[in-house]
Amino acid sequence: MLVVMETAAPKEAVDNVCRLIEQMGLTAHPMPGAQRTAIGVTGNKSQVDADRILTQPGVREIIHVTKPYKLVSREFYPDNSVVDVGGVKVGGKEFIVMAGPCSVESREQTLVVADAVCKAGAKILRGGAYKPRTSPYSFQGLKEEGLKILAEAREKYGLKIVTEAIDTDTIEMVADYADIVQIGARNMQNYSLLRKAGRLSTPVLLKRGLSATVEELLMSAEYIMAEGNRDVILCERGVRTFADHTRNTLDLSAIPFVKKASHLPIISDPSHGTGRKDKVLPLSRASMAVGADGLLIEVHNDPANALSDGPQALTPDMFDEMMVELRAMAPVLGRTME
Ligand code: PEP
Ligand code: MN
Repeated sequence: MLVVMETAAPKEAVDNVCRLIEQMGLTAHPMPGAQRTAIGVTGNKSQVDADRILTQPGVREIIHVTKPYKLVSREFYPDNSVVDVGGVKVGGKEFIVMAGPCSVESREQTLVVADAVCKAGAKILRGGAYKPRTSPYSFQGLKEEGLKILAEAREKYGLKIVTEAIDTDTIEMVADYADIVQIGARNMQNYSLLRKAGRLSTPVLLKRGLSATVEELLMSAEYIMAEGNRDVILCERGVRTFADHTRNTLDLSAIPFVKKASHLPIISDPSHGTGRKDKVLPLSRASMAVGADGLLIEVHNDPANALSDGPQALTPDMFDEMMVELRAMAPVLGRTME
């Protein structure tokens, strides 16, 4: 349920309605917007006495939200949410590119790639320090040492960093280093991890599960927002289909769907979405064209010897060429890229 306040309703009126909602055993989520203040109501397992709320001063109307996701829905919040990552704004006019290696492998590798992606115009450096691998015998990441390397790269190049947290034991430590905590595809429905991510004050990048529907992705984002963290960025990274010409099938139609259903920003990951370096450029172009707010791109200085995901990694030169092309496209699509 959504309580829409009059445009001119003072703060006291909003506070009063929030208090009443809490007294009714529900949770109030005040959402100040450009046009209006609305108060999202969650926690109602049965019929709510809407008339009690409707008769309070400053209340314009009550909207019953039929979708299973509430806080993430556009009905709750009609404006686009812009997630501010220490000054880098995801979900606004600017098209934001996050790039870097799949895994942080060494200090040297990370700094070389960070330098290259920074020069090419990426705003955020990616790199996994904790790697969720299919095989327990594969490289599992440098863990805290990897986080320290990322932090050094941030200092050196002025980039923000996004890195994955794979479990509830380490997510807080990851958040101490990261500007954005990534929840990977394999953990999209790890509800205890989502709840912990929801209690962080760090933005969260939530990737679509390997076989998750868009509604399931939005429900997982709802777990994070329900705990109080509003800074959620969604990521389309491809899903499993019968098609085997690519690693996954990048579901580009999910992007305009999410844009209509939700106010949250969504970026596209054509690296995992295709698994092939030669498909990253065309699918990046397409992602911008369908309305993605940015990209997550894997870049490696020596893809042939990468410890993970080498076949989908762009070289720094390929990445640079791609950025030149995207910058030329951006104005046509109403986006900006510095
Ligand atoms: C990654 O970003 O390196 C990663 C493991 O992605 P995903 O969770 O989408 O597979
Ligand atoms: Mn990867």
